[in-house]
Amino acid sequence: MYCAVNNKVMPVEEATISIRDLSILRGYGIFDFFRTDQGIPLFLDDHLARLSYSSNKVFPKASLDIKAVKDTVLRLMTYNNKPLSGIRIVRTGGVTPDGYEPGTPNLIITQEDISFPSDEKYKNGVKLISYEFQRELVEVKTISYMTGIWLQDRVHEAGAYDILYHQDKKVSELTRSNFFIVDNNETLITPAVNILKGVTRKKVIELAGKFMKVEEREITLREVSEAKETFLTGTTKRVLPVTQIDDSIIGNGKPGPKTKAIMEAFEKLENEYFDNNRKN
Ligand SMILES: *Cc1c(COP(=O)(O)O)cnc(C)c1O
Repeated sequence: MYCAVNNKVMPVEEATISIRDLSILRGYGIFDFFRTDQGIPLFLDDHLARLSYSSNKVFPKASLDIKAVKDTVLRLMTYNNKPLSGIRIVRTGGVTPDGYEPGTPNLIITQEDISFPSDEKYKNGVKLISYEFQRELVEVKTISYMTGIWLQDRVHEAGAYDILYHQDKKVSELTRSNFFIVDNNETLITPAVNILKGVTRKKVIELAGKFMKVEEREITLREVSEAKETFLTGTTKRVLPVTQIDDSIIGNGKPGPKTKAIMEAFEKLENEYFDNNRKN
């Protein structure tokens, strides 16, 4: 397998960055992650736009050449010839002179295997546990997943799939996914602030808007427990039904009709994207 460091493509075994990089010493860096399927990078421009946003927030003085990044991604894909994959683009704090000051950012692009949740999870939904937490620089896709990774044992012990974060009795998102509820008026609601704006979230809002009312606003823990349906969204999860949160069963404990309609609409959108972006 090949990767790219600072836009130079090389075998993964030959790639190195300094142990003085701030990503290693302080967890300082940003990234983005998207899927390729049938050799087509899904929603690539949306992900590059978000990468640019994260980079400008965290490294305002070190501009990122997005066109060069895109060229490298496409070049890397031809080297690896791996139609189904995840591509991760990481921009690190760089080699620090004193253990704290950022240096010149390093850009690492890797292509890796991905797996989707099992059919059983799409069919029956998953359980979440809730946890009071707010990510740092919440609108940026930072590389720091300290709390989520640290809590993995607790997730497994609870027989859960992931964690729903909340603060001041309002829910925000999961460790790596966004969160939606369908309320008793059949309105789709997703938090507007204190979240990472997922590309999948954006697509779902657009799609659902064609057949139901959609609101971006705060959601209280109480609204979640009274919701008819809940689901999560993310690049490797797509639209995944959530049927239990802590001890609270959502709706009748089965994925609901609106969730199913949105899952179907999202799958259709993906297929349209692949059809429109296939080179031949
Ligand atoms: C990546 C991520 C998401 C989901 O974004 P997608 O673009 O849909 O994959 C949501 N929340 C957090 C914290 C994330 O890191």
